[in-house]
Amino acid sequence: MASTNPKSLFADRLNQVQESPTIKVMAAAQKLKAEGVDVVDLGVGEPDFNTPDNVKEAAKRAIDKNFTRYTPAPGVPALRDAIVTRFRADFGIERTRREVIVNVGGKQAIFNAIMATVNPGDEVLIPTPYWVSFPPIVHLCGGTPVYVETSPESGFQITAKLLSRHITPRTKLMIVNSPCNPSGAVVPLSEFNKICELAAERKVFLMSDECYQRFLYDGLQPFTGAAVPEAQRPWVIVIGSLSKTYAMTGWRIGYTIGPAELIDRMLTIQSHQTSNPTSIAQFAAIEALTGPQDSVGQMTREFQRRRDYLVPELNKIPGMHCFMPQGAFYAYPDIRALLKGDIKTCEQFAARLLEKVHIALTAGCAFGTNGFLRISYATAFAELEKTVERLNRFVKAL
Ligand code: PLP
Repeated sequence: MASTNPKSLFADRLNQVQESPTIKVMAAAQKLKAEGVDVVDLGVGEPDFNTPDNVKEAAKRAIDKNFTRYTPAPGVPALRDAIVTRFRADFGIERTRREVIVNVGGKQAIFNAIMATVNPGDEVLIPTPYWVSFPPIVHLCGGTPVYVETSPESGFQITAKLLSRHITPRTKLMIVNSPCNPSGAVVPLSEFNKICELAAERKVFLMSDECYQRFLYDGLQPFTGAAVPEAQRPWVIVIGSLSKTYAMTGWRIGYTIGPAELIDRMLTIQSHQTSNPTSIAQFAAIEALTGPQDSVGQMTREFQRRRDYLVPELNKIPGMHCFMPQGAFYAYPDIRALLKGDIKTCEQFAARLLEKVHIALTAGCAFGTNGFLRISYATAFAELEKTVERLNRFVKAL
């Protein structure tokens, strides 16, 4: 019989999870675009490049060869091996197929790794600003997010010291996302090593979200939690994704590298959930990981060129301060000095930007920090020039 109390219709686990606060701005942007307004869209979280041709061809071949059936739930052996081989080539490390599972994007990897480790009431450390999906995923798995504030003055640096101050007997897992979405901050390797040591010492899992691992600037070299010494390996969970690295957001291929005991448990979940990631996308992923890597360098160089233009221009706008991000493809300017009058939050600032000068972007509130904007520079250079002109016009008129 249908319940008369609408509250009881749906599961309590959703009580703590809200729709993204930026959805309103994005919906308003879509509406304006449909009306023919020239909206500059800086909200996108994906490369504006196409998937490389060799990868697309591999997918076409997979279809023609009828690789269209169920595959093993953790991914075809050749793809798990391709991940092992990529990490050997890039970092000189030896991991085994048993320590790798292929997931439906990095997002499923994160969800299942948390589901496999976090019990109701367990605490999960999440540095702010954070990627929007970390807190909802923790809530959905019954965990309690504990936010670890980083400061704009330090370039949003997360440190082992800061994390250790928030560890309690209930802490089960801590998340580090370097390069960071939304801030673009990169944890220095020496600090990252300390964080891995902390995880093993305090027996807390470290989830290292490396979805932007390849997009590093100023000559910084990629590094990975998969390279930690043997003794720390039971505690380090690496989340990877082909979405950004190979401009493959729609293909939905990500992976986890971690201790075999964890991978087995993630497999148990996945086998009852999605089963395998899409067979055709898996074959495309093998080509992406084992074929030519030139597209990655080309994208990185182009992102750096855009960053080098955009960030100094943002800093010329009175009241706006933006630290130089060293990775990912986001700038995260501080607009606290511009929150005045009836504009009290960055969400209101973003809504007004859209209304007055047709710039769509994500407000920092969505990432747990009021007073910031996230600008994705994974968009054409000409759009960034328009952005600078429009932002100047908007701020002058405030
Ligand atoms: N982690 C971070 C920090 C991200 O920004 C994203 C996507 O925006 C993901 C994970 C998940 O990406 P995907 O599921 O496309 O691999």
